[in-house]
Amino acid sequence: MSRVAWQLATVKSIKQETPHVKSFTLSLPNWTPHLAGQHYDLRLTAEGGYQAERSYSIASPPEQTGEIELTVEIIADGEVSGYLNEGVAVGDELEVRGPIGGYFVWPGEASAPPLLLVGGGSGVVPLMAMLRHRQRLGLRTPAVLLFSVRTPEEVIYQAELEALAKDDPSFTLLLDYTRQAPPGWAGYHRRIDAAMLAEVVSRFGDAQPQAFACGPTGLVESVANGLQAAGLQAESILTERFGPTGS
Ligand SMILES: Cc1cc2nc3c(=O)[nH]c(=O)nc-3n(C[C@H](O)[C@H](O)[C@H](O)COP(=O)(O)OP(=O)(O)OC[C@H]3O[C@@H](n4cnc5c(N)ncnc54)[C@H](O)[C@@H]3O)c2cc1C
Repeated sequence: MSRVAWQLATVKSIKQETPHVKSFTLSLPNWTPHLAGQHYDLRLTAEGGYQAERSYSIASPPEQTGEIELTVEIIADGEVSGYLNEGVAVGDELEVRGPIGGYFVWPGEASAPPLLLVGGGSGVVPLMAMLRHRQRLGLRTPAVLLFSVRTPEEVIYQAELEALAKDDPSFTLLLDYTRQAPPGWAGYHRRIDAAMLAEVVSRFGDAQPQAFACGPTGLVESVANGLQAAGLQAESILTERFGPTGS
């Protein structure tokens, strides 16, 4: 069977991550190991035969065999995300194909350079797969996640990320609240900008980190420019754009 053939996955569990984000664990009859950062395509077919297809990054690490976790942000008026939010229950079948993508991936080698992960909103999903993979492998590759969200209630995977930051001194979680920060917040509270990125890059000292930036198109483009301005070489910056809007 081709790695990109469509298959019918069964929804094993659904988790409400934030008010507008749900994670779906799908059991796959033809599971193949993926690289952290890859995605699946998901296809919905209406009764009349109309089809809609979208890509969703894999949130789970390749060590989680037989199933994948997809984390979907509900976009207002979104055709596919709206259906996934309201029309899908445990036990339902969904048509998917993957894993897809060979560029925005982190293979998880012990010799890999330090990791600089920058995510906006659901752009954190493939970055989470990388962090989970790193953790499952027991690697201590220095890693920093700069995660930009609008409000405190929008921090996807918050408990898991905070636990990881507490238990693993080689991982740093930097939350950035662009609209509303929690009371007493002393961290970043503005859109990601060049000064913020320069500060984050300086945490790596003389080392050249491998950067992964993912999220809305506008955010990813400004992060890629800011990281280059902060001294990273273009080939050390990998980007994945999720959608048309800025945040
Ligand atoms: C490689 C890849 C991986 C992706 N992984 C994820 C993921 O892990 N989780 C996730 O939630 N999404 C992910 N996306 C985005 C996803 O594929 C869809 O674009 C998104 O779910 C919206 O689809 P929809 O059918 O609900 O909205 P549509 O009906 O296509 O669009 C509705 C409205 O929302 C706007 N819109 C479309 N996409 C976005 C977006 N991403 N952000 C803001 N506005 C948008 C449209 O311009 C339109 O105005 C990924 C995209 C790519 C290319």
